[in-house]
Amino acid sequence: MEGIIAGLIGAGLLAAWLLPKLRLRRALARPLAPELVAILERNLAQYARMDEGQQRRLRRLVQQFLHEKAFVGCAGLEVTDEMRVTIAAQACMLVLGGTGDASPANLYPSLHAVLVYPGAFLVPRREVDAAGVVTEQRQDLLGESWGDGRVILSWDHVRRAGAEESPDHNVVLHEFAHQLDSESGSTNGAPYLGSTERYRSWSEVLSRNYAALRRDAMWGQRGVLDHYGASSPAEFFAVATESFFEQPWELSARHPDLYEEFMKYFRVDPRDWVAEPQPVFDDPFQHGLVYGQWR
Ligand SMILES: [Zn+2]
Repeated sequence: MEGIIAGLIGAGLLAAWLLPKLRLRRALARPLAPELVAILERNLAQYARMDEGQQRRLRRLVQQFLHEKAFVGCAGLEVTDEMRVTIAAQACMLVLGGTGDASPANLYPSLHAVLVYPGAFLVPRREVDAAGVVTEQRQDLLGESWGDGRVILSWDHVRRAGAEESPDHNVVLHEFAHQLDSESGSTNGAPYLGSTERYRSWSEVLSRNYAALRRDAMWGQRGVLDHYGASSPAEFFAVATESFFEQPWELSARHPDLYEEFMKYFRVDPRDWVAEPQPVFDDPFQHGLVYGQWR
């Protein structure tokens, strides 16, 4: 009798482990539908310049993402394929190189739902001061990443980033960078890196660049990285990830050590996917070249 029960439990566990794998296999058996590929081409600027192998891998990751993660429309929003594919494509571009812990079998393992609002959303914030007084604030947000497996996004801002209206900001890359960061167990600006040696080099390079950004923010000096990244190491990693994928030429020119470190982590070079900006002339009469001095 005990043997039968143990057998049944074993079979149950095997089924629980096997069924999702079989379902995923079935979902990936057919290629991504042409109308979804068209959305990918339209809304992920980097896709056109990826090589064939990268494009194929990205399409499969997008299929897997769409299969595994739930999309929930909030504040009356009806989630469309356009929204699903655009968000999935940008999130999957981060792990295209097989970064950190995210293998194809392990795509944002703790994430289960993406909540989408039509525009910036309000979130009540409770703050308790030393005297125990609780202040409720309401903040406008474009995106949030929660440790409990949720990412919340404003579609209006996702759409704008995809349409290159704001080339230096990308809320999807930002929030999913936080998800990668949290895979290491805490969201502290250091994602899962594997070896101690890698953590040592990461910490040295990122600390140096973070300190420099804090100084720049204090003096109001504008550079490639948004000053929002100076608020904490976790925000620094998220902001620098946006720049790595959206402004790779500018980032590699201004912060070569940071760019190098990110190439080791993400295992891609986004300069392959983004046209090199034309050098700018600071004085049209002198033709003084200020290469590497964007923005
Ligand atoms: Zn953030």
